Amino acid sequence: MKNVSKLLMLAVLGLILSTSTADAMLDYQTGRWLSQDPLGYVDGVNMYGYVSSRPTHHVDPTGLVGLGGNPTMGPGTYIDDGKPSSSSSGGGKNLDVVHGGQTLKFSFEDCSSSEIGKLTQQLKDAYDAISEALSDAEKLQDFLDDESAPSCSCAAKAGGAIRDWFGGQGNDFNDTVDDVVDVLEDMKDAFDGRIGIECESSCSNPAANAYVYGGFTDIHVCPNFWNNPNKRCSAILLHEMSHEYADTDDEGYWDPSTGEYMLNGKPVDLDLSDLLDNADTYEECLYDWYL
Ligand SMILES: [Zn+2]
Repeated sequence: MKNVSKLLMLAVLGLILSTSTADAMLDYQTGRWLSQDPLGYVDGVNMYGYVSSRPTHHVDPTGLVGLGGNPTMGPGTYIDDGKPSSSSSGGGKNLDVVHGGQTLKFSFEDCSSSEIGKLTQQLKDAYDAISEALSDAEKLQDFLDDESAPSCSCAAKAGGAIRDWFGGQGNDFNDTVDDVVDVLEDMKDAFDGRIGIECESSCSNPAANAYVYGGFTDIHVCPNFWNNPNKRCSAILLHEMSHEYADTDDEGYWDPSTGEYMLNGKPVDLDLSDLLDNADTYEECLYDWYL
C-alpha cells in the first residue's frame, strides 16, 4: 500500500508541476528529460525526469502503473539455457537466470513471452559485456598504477576502448580510466539487484528506444526498441542502466553516419568531462568493443 500511495502522490505532484517546466528538454533517444527539475529532490526520491516531465503528455498509463513495481514481487523462477519458463505473480513475470555462475534476476511487465525470451538474452549479453569491460579496465588500472604489474591483452583492449571513446593522453589518461571504471562499476551493480523491464505498447516519442524515470530502476522499452539488432538492444539497456545506476546524462547522441554527437538536431562538441558524463559514450564504447 505504501508504494501505491507514494505513486499517487508522485502522479499528483507531476500534474501540479507540469506547467512549470518549459526549460526541460526531452531526451529524443530515450524519452528521458535532460535537465533536472529545479525543485530537485522531493521526499528523498530523485525526481530527475519524472516531475519535470509532463505526465499528461509524456507518461503513458502503462508506464505509470509500472512505477511501483518490481523489486518486491514474488520468488523468481529458475530458467535454463536462455529459455524462460512461464511464470507470473502479482501481474509481473520474474525470472532468475543462472548464468556463468551468477544468478541474474529480471522482472518483466507487459512483455510477451517472445519479448521476454529476447530480453533475457539481451540482458545476459549486457551482463557479459559490462563484466568483461570492467574486468579489463581494472587490469588496465592496475597496470597504470604500477607499471611493473603484468600487462595483458585485456588491459590493452580496455585502453583502446577508452582512448577511442573518451580520449585522454598522458597523466590525464590515468584519471580517465579511473573515472570510467567508477561508472562501469556502478553499471554492473545494476545486476546485483533485480532489473525490472517494462514493455510499453506505445511511447510518447515514437522514435524513443527506451527510457527510465530517475529514482526508479525499471527500464521501459518502447516499440521502436524492437527495430534494433539484439546486440544494439543490449547496448541500449546498458545506456539506461548508466542513467539509473551511474547518474549519467545525455550530453549528446552518437550518430554513426556522421561520426558526431548530436543534440537537438545539431552537432555538439563534447569535452572529456562531457564524455565521462554521457550515457551514449558508454553505450557506444561497450557496443563497439564488448558486444
Ligand atoms: Zn539517455
